[in-house]
Order: sequence, then structure tokens, then C-alpha cells
Amino acid sequence: MSAQKVRKVVIVGGGTAGWVAAASVAKLLGKNLDISLIESDEIGTVGVGEATIPTLITLHQLLKIDEREFMAAVQGTFKLGISFENWRDVGKDYIHSFGFTGKDCWAAGFVHFWLKARAQGNKADFGEYCTELMAAKANKFAVFKPDGLNYAYHMDASLYAKFMRKIAEQHGCKRIEGKIVEVGTNSDNGYISHVQLASGQKIEGDLFIDCSGFRSLLLGETLGTGFEDWSKWLPCDSAIAVQTRSVSEPIPYTRSIARDAGWQWRIPLQSRVGNGFVFCSKYLSDEQRPRNTAKQY
Ligand SMILES: Cc1cc2nc3c(=O)[nH]c(=O)nc-3n(C[C@H](O)[C@H](O)[C@H](O)COP(=O)(O)OP(=O)(O)OC[C@H]3O[C@@H](n4cnc5c(N)ncnc54)[C@H](O)[C@@H]3O)c2cc1C
Repeated sequence: MSAQKVRKVVIVGGGTAGWVAAASVAKLLGKNLDISLIESDEIGTVGVGEATIPTLITLHQLLKIDEREFMAAVQGTFKLGISFENWRDVGKDYIHSFGFTGKDCWAAGFVHFWLKARAQGNKADFGEYCTELMAAKANKFAVFKPDGLNYAYHMDASLYAKFMRKIAEQHGCKRIEGKIVEVGTNSDNGYISHVQLASGQKIEGDLFIDCSGFRSLLLGETLGTGFEDWSKWLPCDSAIAVQTRSVSEPIPYTRSIARDAGWQWRIPLQSRVGNGFVFCSKYLSDEQRPRNTAKQY
């Protein structure tokens, strides 16, 4: 089979995933490609991905994103880890930090030195040898380059999509507004060949990237890739999200608090706190569910 040269890339969906994909492809390969992104204002986005992990920093380095500019644009704050509260037992909290604990050497990992020291009477907790953990507990944060703390970000996901959109468009990505009503496949190989909008416009491409969110328009609906149902292990099937005004300085970690029928998140941004409740609908009656202006999923 001869390899087909990719020239025209079509990204379907303009949520966080779509604009991150568009910014990445446009910035890294934009000179050689014709890139477009289709999104529909009629459908909207999820827009609640506020907590991230350190790998996002690697992507930003690759895209040469200025951290100050990014933090200002997305109302961002720094996080050193995630505080899991009441998970093991009520009142028992644990911070999963992004740092390393102690220093390994060629002969053995740090845990062995710590165990030996403990046997000899050293009372220090294992976590005391992790800078990120101690900083998180003390509500402290600082950026030291190049070998400073390991961290990630909290951010406003809708602002992040806008920030990435700017980068994508600066590097040649074209945004197309419209609802896709039909997806066409090539009868020879089954690959996606084009999408058609409600306006009748037909958009062809060599490579389609499906960022249509829960709809899974290309992968699920058209190619029938399906998914494995994990609800047996992950029973939470509903969520609500609501924002509150900040009343104190942001803390440098995400809070994840176990509740009777699920868990709650609290994510501090510069001027607001993102709150949410992820729950198992089987264990919470309609009357018990929070009723306010929360966005439901
Ligand atoms: C309650 C909740 C909390 C979350 N918290 C976090 C978090 O803290 N951190 C994190 O990393 N992630 C989090 N996530 C996950 C993250 O928010 C989502 O994975 C992410 O926002 C999904 O983005 P997306 O771009 O894939 O999809 P979406 O935001 O759903 O965007 C889909 C896009 O596809 C377009 N589209 C769909 N169908 C069509 C069509 N027919 N024609 C044209 N366009 C179409 C829409 O217009 C839209 O632009 C959370 C998710 C939920 C539900």
C-alpha cells in the first residue's frame, strides 16, 4: 500500500482538545500543511478541565509558550499536587505531590536509606524528604529554573481554549463555523474522506482528528471504534460544576474530597474557585442532588 501524503488536516471540534491539537499541529508543522478546525456554536464545549498534571508543561515547552503570558491569559495558579481528603478513611488525608522523595543512589532507592534510618531511631516521616509535598503543606510555591519544583497548573479551561486558538490561528489554522451533519468515507479503504456541514459545505481532508468530545462523531459514530465500559469499576456517572468567588489566597494544590456518593473537587484560580461534585446517581436521589445554577454533565 503506498503511503498517502498528508497535506490537508481537518480537526473536528473546538473544545480544549480541538484547539490544543490545532495549536500543536499548526505551530510544529503549519508551514507544510493546510489546517482547518470545524466547530459549532450550537453544540458548545465541556469547558471544565481546570486541573492539569505536569506533562502539560512539556507540551508548552515544545510549543515555546511563555509561562507568564499563559498564566495571565488563563487566570492560572500553580499546583504541586493533589490533596486526597477522606479517601482512605474519614479524616485521613494524603497529598499526592508531583515531586520525588529523597535521593536515590546507584546502590539502592531512597526508601531503603529511610527505612535503615528509621530502624536507627530517625523519626522523620518519608514525605518530609519531598520538597513539593512540604511546600504544598506550607502553602508555598516558587519557580526556580532549571531544576526547581515539579508542578502543574490550575486554569480556566474556556480561556485556555481561546489562548490555544490564538496560537493556532497565528500559525495558519482556519476556523470553520458550522454543524457537521454527515461524515463521508472512502469506499476503497474505509478512511474518512470528507465531512458535510448543515449549510451544505463539503470539507475534504487527508487526515481527520476527532475532537468532537462525548459525541465521538468520527471515531465512534462513523468508524464504530466503540469503547470499553468501565462503569463496573468506576461507578460515578454524573457531575455538576459551579464557580465561587475566592475569599483567600489560592492554595498550591487541587483538593479532591471523598463524599458518601462520590467526590468533590475544589480548584483555586486567580479570582475564583472551581467546584464540582462527581457522583454515582444510583446512590443519590433527585432530592439529595445539589440544586442551583450548576452546570450538569
Ligand atoms: C465534570 C468534568 C470535570 C472535568 N475536570 C477536568 C479537569 O479538572 N482536568 C482535565 O484535564 N479534564 C477534566 N475534564 C475533562 C475535560 O474537561 C474534557 O475532557 C474536555 O473538556 C473535553 O474537551 P473536548 O475538546 O474533547 O470536547 P468538548 O469540550 O465537548 O468539545 C467538543 C467540540 O466538538 C464540537 N462538535 C461536536 N459535534 C459537532 C458537530 N456535529 N459539528 C460540529 N462541531 C461539533 C463542539 O462544537 C465542540 O467544539 C472534566 C470533564 C468533566 C465532564
